[in-house]
Amino acid sequence: MNRGPIPPHVVRHGAAVTAVRADNPGALTLTGTQTYVIGTSRLVILDPGPRDDTHLVRVDRVIGGRPVAAVCFTHAHRDHTAAAQEAAARWAKLRASAETLSRLEREGRPLADGEKIALGGGLQLRALATPGHSADHVCYLLEPDRILFTGDLVLGEGSTMIVHPDGSVRAYLESLARLTALRPTLLLPGHGSAVERAPAYLDACRAHRIERVAQVSRARKSGARSLQQIREAVYGDLPASHHQAAEVTLRAYLAYLEES
Ligand SMILES: [Zn+2]
Repeated sequence: MNRGPIPPHVVRHGAAVTAVRADNPGALTLTGTQTYVIGTSRLVILDPGPRDDTHLVRVDRVIGGRPVAAVCFTHAHRDHTAAAQEAAARWAKLRASAETLSRLEREGRPLADGEKIALGGGLQLRALATPGHSADHVCYLLEPDRILFTGDLVLGEGSTMIVHPDGSVRAYLESLARLTALRPTLLLPGHGSAVERAPAYLDACRAHRIERVAQVSRARKSGARSLQQIREAVYGDLPASHHQAAEVTLRAYLAYLEES
């Protein structure tokens, strides 16, 4: 897949956010996992990413000796969390949903839905339970700027996996509606580039899913039975590297059609 030019490792988004991209590109991670350094005087490190010293040193350079209030996670998938232990040792206590901490089998302080972490300088980071990609998924809103960290719920390009049965289409659509209602000014995803036209992009994500569900329904009505037949009818000629991800998400569409 042509993803265009490889972006730089470190990208600033205004005064209070820096993205540090890990070198773990792939079919699901796009150009690599984004670790975010959030705040000005007191920081949160969001999704430390894979175990990779070069990446952690880059994050350290952005931190530049400023105090770190917490290392937070959007969800427990390894490409976001494999460096959890190193991050806790280097920077601060782990904070995530109780479910994410339990999946990681790590000590930390659970973050409740809606809970805020004060960052100093009038900034705060709010946790938002947003299941759909996975059941434990949390997005984070930087206030008052309304910059939204979308983890794997919304990617910078393409569409995310709905990891059936942990993820669900119904939960995903509800989470998208919750994000839209926040009127974010900027989306910063776990993979891919920043999205500036946030409301239109969230609407497009919703429309895309609804269209996919309709396509799966039509494929079944026209006789497709096996997952492979449905995949071919819905996605056409997909590279083999994407088959498994497509079929996991197809199972989520089928479950959604079953229950609606
Ligand atoms: Zn994920």
